[in-house]
Amino acid sequence: MKLYNSLSHEKEEFIPHEPGKVSMYTCGPTVYHFAHIGNLRSYIMEDALEKYLRYDGYDVKRVMNITDVGHLTSDADTGEDKMLKGAKREKKTVMEIAKFYTDAFFADCEKLNIKKPDVIEPATGCIPEFIQMVQGLLEKGYAYISGGNVYFDTSKLEKYYVFNNFEAEDLEVGVREGVEEDTSKKNKADFVLWFTKSKFEDQELKWDSPWGIGYPGWHIECSAISLKHNGEYLDLHCGGIDNAFPHHTNEIAQSEAYLGHPWCKYWFHILHLNTNSGKMSKSKGEFLTVSLLEEKGYDPIVYRFFCLQSHYRRSLVFSWEGLDNAATAYDKLIAKIAALDPAKKEPANADAEAAVRASFKEALDNDLNTSLAVTAVYDVLKAPISDAAKRQILGEFDAVLSLNLLKAADAKRAEAETDAPAGDSELIAKIEAMIAERAAAKKAKNYARADEIRAELSAMGVTLKDTPNGTEFTIA
Ligand code: AMP
Ligand code: ZN
Repeated sequence: MKLYNSLSHEKEEFIPHEPGKVSMYTCGPTVYHFAHIGNLRSYIMEDALEKYLRYDGYDVKRVMNITDVGHLTSDADTGEDKMLKGAKREKKTVMEIAKFYTDAFFADCEKLNIKKPDVIEPATGCIPEFIQMVQGLLEKGYAYISGGNVYFDTSKLEKYYVFNNFEAEDLEVGVREGVEEDTSKKNKADFVLWFTKSKFEDQELKWDSPWGIGYPGWHIECSAISLKHNGEYLDLHCGGIDNAFPHHTNEIAQSEAYLGHPWCKYWFHILHLNTNSGKMSKSKGEFLTVSLLEEKGYDPIVYRFFCLQSHYRRSLVFSWEGLDNAATAYDKLIAKIAALDPAKKEPANADAEAAVRASFKEALDNDLNTSLAVTAVYDVLKAPISDAAKRQILGEFDAVLSLNLLKAADAKRAEAETDAPAGDSELIAKIEAMIAERAAAKKAKNYARADEIRAELSAMGVTLKDTPNGTEFTIA
């Protein structure tokens, strides 16, 4: 498989350290609020990557942290702990909101068919590991104590800005979000490994450490948790593109300084889901959640379909129209699969079956091109192969895509069979074909034809109802 590596800025052949095995790390959510559908775009694409690696035969171990302490409102270590901010907003304790939003995150993941990682580790459960790593960095001369905090000294590195060629002055980290700069830092890019002196004396969670009572910086969490569960050599690290700097840059700096050798081979970054007014973000306050999509009548899997239809390395603009189009396309796709009859006696066509499997694999082998993988699903339906083989292959593809292709089709079929008199599957298929033709006519702005089809259906005793998930029908 070829995967774009943010470190080399190139598509590279994916070769893990140990043949057949992949160690994978994903930055988990900061659990001070609901995940928005932008965050979930990242998790959907990471899920597709993990599942494709498994489909391709790898034994994957995926680790994810839960950030429940230390992520400040500015990624540059200034501002307030996001968790404390969330707790104040809801007049609850930090641990209460951490539990609530962690559960909410995994409930959303389940609705989107995002598999649970093999290891889920809340940062507050690994304080001894963070302290050990900070201590190691101090001993090796990569860290210093200043103004009560422990900082990583970026001037000790040959190359700090590994993902890009930024100049320190261009970045102005620390003043970016209008917060004062930390005068205890020796270099502008230095970052906090352990806070003891915080401007916020009400920081709720604090632990004893060799440097005084305090709490860990956000970046050290991911390095230490990954080391704990995936060892000294990590194959693949994932996250949204906003995490590349400073978070992942700092993870690399401290992990490699601590280990004394290169750490992670491949960096997989997902571009953002944007709204018309820019990046969707929790801190802006206004964002869309999975629950909101459900309230509006959308099946969350339609959002997954929407995401898979575009490449992870392109930013994706969310619009209701775009989601409606995905809902209509998804419904049509499921109707087509529901119309397959696996009991039909048809000859096997091994070459054509191999060709559709190959085009699916080719799409995903090329930097996880999920959009072309979805096209391969349509190719299966058009291929000169038996209905039974089509269902078999779609089931295989769905191990990666997780679009409930067979499950939703079977449910649709069962629903149609209970709604319609027994033996009427031909009639249902006819109605569905007419509905599809009407949708195509509407799309082509041929409203006269669309109305004509509605009238024909009405004469057959069929009533239509247009919903965000497509057109539903009832038979009189
Ligand atoms: P957070 O909960 O803020 O730590 O973010 C969780 C994940 O979502 C990280 O991998 C972020 O990089 C990613 N993320 C944040 N905003 C967006 C967005 N608008 N689109 C896609 N991914 C995002
Ligand atoms: Zn992280």
